[in-house]
Amino acid sequence: MKKALLVKYGEIFLRGANRGFFERRLAKMIKRRLSGFDVRVTRENGRFLVESDSGDMDYNHIIPAVSKIFGLIGLSPCVMTEDQSIENLCKISADFIRTHYGQRTFSFKVKTRRADKRYPLNSQEISAIVGEKILGDTQSARVDLHNPEVTLHIELRKNAYIYAETVKTHGGLPYGSSGRGALLLSGGIDSPVAGYMMAKRGVELIPVYFHSPPYTSERAKEKVLDLTRVLTGFTGNIKLYVIPFTDVQLCIHRQCQPEKLTILLKRAMLKIAALIAARENCHCLITGDSVGQVASQTMQSLAAAQSAVSLPILRPLAGLDKQEIIDIAAKIGTFDISIRPYEDCCTIFIPAHPETKPKIHAIDNAERHLEGLEELILIAAEQAEIIII
Ligand code: ATP
Ligand code: MG
Repeated sequence: MKKALLVKYGEIFLRGANRGFFERRLAKMIKRRLSGFDVRVTRENGRFLVESDSGDMDYNHIIPAVSKIFGLIGLSPCVMTEDQSIENLCKISADFIRTHYGQRTFSFKVKTRRADKRYPLNSQEISAIVGEKILGDTQSARVDLHNPEVTLHIELRKNAYIYAETVKTHGGLPYGSSGRGALLLSGGIDSPVAGYMMAKRGVELIPVYFHSPPYTSERAKEKVLDLTRVLTGFTGNIKLYVIPFTDVQLCIHRQCQPEKLTILLKRAMLKIAALIAARENCHCLITGDSVGQVASQTMQSLAAAQSAVSLPILRPLAGLDKQEIIDIAAKIGTFDISIRPYEDCCTIFIPAHPETKPKIHAIDNAERHLEGLEELILIAAEQAEIIII
């Protein structure tokens, strides 16, 4: 009897022609993250199996190493046995239950899955026989088929795998399987969450941060580097663009009506991000906007922002409340970094009364009168600092 880890992945999206592509991608990622461990990874009938020759398995390190891979839905520590006779399944199952749950009273059921249908008993028969054995063996156990506290799973494959717990993971699609997006990443709460959500749907992230020294400090930039580092836990290495934004910001600030400043800054950011997106073959831009959260996020403002670029802007937080966004930020580990008190470039020049219902033609018109802006936008994109994290 050996310890192993059963790795479950989403099945719905795996049907059809893309299945092999997704599975190979996932296998590669799992192997890469487990490369420092003495284990092997194989795929069998809709599962990955992590096993070792010694039969030992350091779950405390192995589970965290793979739990952030998008596309995986659950991880089950299990025992593996080569002997699939019903007698052996009964013995191992009863031992497993007694060891893990025998100290208290509990209800249970047994659920069997046969990958090989040639097994002489069907799934129900195996579950019933093993269940009887557990009942006879552990005084504190009782059967509950509808709402059990413990479900003992038996999976019969080349070998048999027995487990009762599944650590739920993030789900989604394998990272990089849905093209690329340029993420406008500030040091705030929202945009790292937006990045996480799109990365979870398989979009490879190219974050773009707008930095305005001396109005924004080095520590504001460090915050963005730290946030990116947290995202790499899910994605692997990330290429971050830091855009020198001061000249663009001053150009707009000096010439525009104060109430149009916010939307004009936003459009300039989007235009620069679109230039980076073209350079990096991105198919979309991603922002942390949430409808109605602040003046710059009314529907009219979002429309006026979108019209600055032709690439689609994805806003995965559009329909979420602030608290829902905070909950996700806390779950993925970005919240504590985001609330560090260093200013964002947009908070410095905030007008007292920003326009909340900008008209696209009026914004276009105002923008056209900003002398030197188009050129400064090109220069900012060209002078971007690239940091691999
Ligand atoms: P966040 O919490 O993500 O900073 P926010 O609530 O502060 O968002 P805004 O300041 O209106 O809202 O910004 C909306 C979006 O614009 C951000 O989510 C982000 O995608 C982008 N953005 C704003 N400032 C920057 C910046 N300095 N660098 C990169 N992107 C930015
Ligand atoms: Mg912000």
